Amino acid sequence: MLQYQIIPVTHYQQNCTLLWCDETNEAAVVDPGGNIERILSVLIERKLNLVKILLTHGHLDHVGGTEALVRATKISEDSAPIPIEGPHLDDMFWINMLPQQAQMMGFSTPQNFHPDLFFKDGDQVSFGNVHLEIRHCPGHTPGHIIFFHPETKLALVGDVLFKGAIGRSDFPRGNYDQLVNSIRTKLWPLGDDVQFIPGHGPMSTFGQERLHDAFVADKHFG
Ligand SMILES: [Zn+2]
Ligand SMILES: [Zn+2]
Repeated sequence: MLQYQIIPVTHYQQNCTLLWCDETNEAAVVDPGGNIERILSVLIERKLNLVKILLTHGHLDHVGGTEALVRATKISEDSAPIPIEGPHLDDMFWINMLPQQAQMMGFSTPQNFHPDLFFKDGDQVSFGNVHLEIRHCPGHTPGHIIFFHPETKLALVGDVLFKGAIGRSDFPRGNYDQLVNSIRTKLWPLGDDVQFIPGHGPMSTFGQERLHDAFVADKHFG
């Protein structure tokens, strides 16, 4: 069974999320943007074994603590580092621009990293007995992906969709129409009863957003 805990990180209060399988205690961290000491203390407190770092997209507030977390969890010289999986390859330009992002956002420059694996639409990822499905949802960034757990109807959508709003599309290679299209064709078909953890702010459901979202409620489309 999938369990989760949201750990807001950085001054952007980014919803870093710890996911784990309660049968094996294997865990994955989604979007470790920073404050890795908070993430590490939850891992220790819950006696979890971190096996993967998963990334939704290449923005600094989501990935800034990735390399520090890999280094902090490397037990010895010759133990294998925890793999970094995601986002989609099209976000590599954002990851390459981490120093510039840090300057723009007032962060100290993070340690550089390279993902071990990029995802594409329809891929799956597992830890313990938990299997997540991946959807490619470009628009906020070109390589943004989301994670979906069908059994518990939980989605982690990063900066694609928020409670009442959608992600920004005014960044380099962002695209408003593409973002709206990603939400309507990749998220809505997963079901109105899907609960989602956005990259920032409170959780909601796809059904609630189809009714009330300021940008993508069904009433805005003929
Ligand atoms: Zn973002
Ligand atoms: Zn964000």
